[in-house]
Formats: sequence, structure tokens, C-alpha cells
Amino acid sequence: MQNKAIPVTRSSMPPIEEYIREIQPIWDSARLTNMGPLHQQFEKAAADYLAVDNISLFANGHLALEIAIQSLGLTGEVITTPFTFVSTTHAIRRNNLQPVFCDIDPEDCTIDVSLLERLISEKTSAIIPVHVYGNICDTAAIESIAKKYHLKVIYDAAHCFGIKVNDRGIGTFGDISMFSFHATKVFHTIEGGALTYGKASYKVNLEHLKNFGFTSPELVEAVGTNAKMNEFQAAMGLCNLRHLDEEIVKRKAVAERYRQNLAGIKGIKLLPEKRGIRQNYAYFPVFFEPIIFGKTRNQVFADLAINNIIARKYFYPLITDLQCYRGIYSITDTPVARTMADQVMTLPMYADLDLKEVDRICGYILA
Ligand SMILES: *Cc1c(COP(=O)(O)O)cnc(C)c1O
Repeated sequence: MQNKAIPVTRSSMPPIEEYIREIQPIWDSARLTNMGPLHQQFEKAAADYLAVDNISLFANGHLALEIAIQSLGLTGEVITTPFTFVSTTHAIRRNNLQPVFCDIDPEDCTIDVSLLERLISEKTSAIIPVHVYGNICDTAAIESIAKKYHLKVIYDAAHCFGIKVNDRGIGTFGDISMFSFHATKVFHTIEGGALTYGKASYKVNLEHLKNFGFTSPELVEAVGTNAKMNEFQAAMGLCNLRHLDEEIVKRKAVAERYRQNLAGIKGIKLLPEKRGIRQNYAYFPVFFEPIIFGKTRNQVFADLAINNIIARKYFYPLITDLQCYRGIYSITDTPVARTMADQVMTLPMYADLDLKEVDRICGYILA
């Protein structure tokens, strides 16, 4: 008998009665969107969980990032990473800015800070690094470079809900951080996202920009967009937040089981866990060095697919190889990112993934 398909991820679903209880009041108020009571309640709950002082909620993470860039009035060039989801680069381009790609550190796949300064020109206005898979960038180095050259820093923290660094919320670094609450993320509101920021004064502008730029019913001061989180999304967020700690514990057990099976195997590289970090175990990336391991990433991927296990190649292709960006940037500029993209596979990871299934997946990889 064919085994049941195992997807790379499975969205968290709160008990349906709990969600119904949460959305019930919407039928009395007929308040569906535009920063209603559930939005307000969830905004506070999310800020508490993230340990941040300032937060704004959005329809999704991508629009949040576009608005973050717009709100800071960036110009010219933005230094970023090619080892990310397309959203990061698209948000820069859709603001008519020029991405400048910095290579990554092979130890954690985040931007290689030793290469940053040489990429700064008189046109550079910001750095947009990504805490890839929840691996924290070298925030201290980025902060000191940003300060020296008067650059803004926006972190793509899409993978980072609930991560803390020595008890400090990950969303408190840089000028602004963006979180995604997409259905496939460790915490979700179906679709959704947030920006967190150190300056409380940013809030007014961000709230206007997500509502077409309206500052009052007859006054539109900025060319905003529509990126409001609705009440049903907020209700899902309130429900999922109650179960998140428990889910992270289960994800941790899955990650540990993968490590037990795969650590120390020649030709398989796992990213080290850093000390002092409260992780969320959003992804489990594995890197295959074909000559040492004997199989390429694509061969392993195919072996898993035959057995109905659907892994993903996050992040492959590299952004600079995507149809819409290809040829514009030199592929030799980021050789480490290129190698990592060719070797990476993210294995199935979700709270309810059975540990025996983890063993079975690892069995196919090592076969
Ligand atoms: C998911 C993701 C986004 C986009 O978030 P959405 O909520 O799906 O719009 C941006 N950057 C990264 C790195 C992501 O993984």
C-alpha cells in the first residue's frame, strides 16, 4: 500500500468550535474589516507575544514589507540577499528601488556582513536582510554599519514569529521588522502579516498607508494601498496564538529527531543551533554536498517524491536566476548563495508530524 502523502508543511488548525466562538460576535456587529474589535484585540496579543512595543497588522507579509519600504522614503539602492523568498526582492523593485545583492554566510545562510561595506555606494539608502529559516542575522554588525553610513534597516523576519534573542523579541532589531502570518508559516492568520518598529511615531503613517493613505474621511495625504487585516484573519490569529507554544514544543521534537538521524552523516550539512535563542523550528533545511554524499539534492528530492514525501527546495532557484531578474545581475556575484541554493532542501516540518514518519523520511534520504 502506498504510504499517505507527507507535505512539506501543514497549516495549524485550531479546534473549529474555538474559531466559531471567536467569530460569533462579528454577526452581531456586522463589522468585517477596517480595524474592528478583533483586529484591536489581536494587535495587542501579537505585540505581547512578540515582546515588541509597536506593531501594525496587515493583509499579508508582502504588502507589509512594501509599505515599510515606502514609509521610510528610501531611494536608489538597497542591499539585500538573493537567498530568500521572491517577496523580499519584489518589495524592493515594486518601490522602484534597485536591489544590490550581498552574498551569504554558509554557516547560517544570512547576509555575510563582512561583504556589506564594499557594496555601499552614494546611492545606498537601506539594508534589507532576511533572518532566513529563523536564523538571526548578525544584527550588531548590521547596526554599526547602518549607523556609520546613515542607512535604514528593515529585517524580513517572515520566518521568525516568536523568536527571542536572550529574551529580546526579534522584532525589536533594526528600524522595522516584517513578519508573515501566511498559512504555511509557523504562526498564521490564513493570510496576514505585521510590521514591528522601535519608533512609536511610525504607527500613524503605517496605518494610513495600509488604508489607501486616508488620514480622515475627506483627506488622502499619501498614495497608499489596501493592506488591511480583516476580522476573520484576526480571529484566526487569536485562536492560533493560544496553541502556538504547544506547537513549537512539538516542532522542536521533530527537529531533534531529524538531527538524531542526520547529524554527522558525511556530505549532509545541517545548520548549527545558536545559543541564547528561543527558536520556533519553522523549517528544517538540509544541504547535500553531492560529491561527498554520493547523491545530489535533486536525486534525494526525487527519491522522496517517489515515496510520496513532498520536500521543497527553499530557496532555489536563487532570486538572481528567476525569469524576471535573470541577466540583470551577475551570477558570479554571490557564489556562496548559489552553492547553498543548489544543495538545499527543506524537509517536512509541522507540529503533528509523527516522529516515526521522520525516521522513515530519513531512511529514504540515507538509502
Ligand atoms: C512568506 C515570506 C514572505 C511573504 O509573506 P506573505 O505573508 O506570504 O506575503 C516574505 N519573505 C519571506 C522570506 C517569506 O518566507
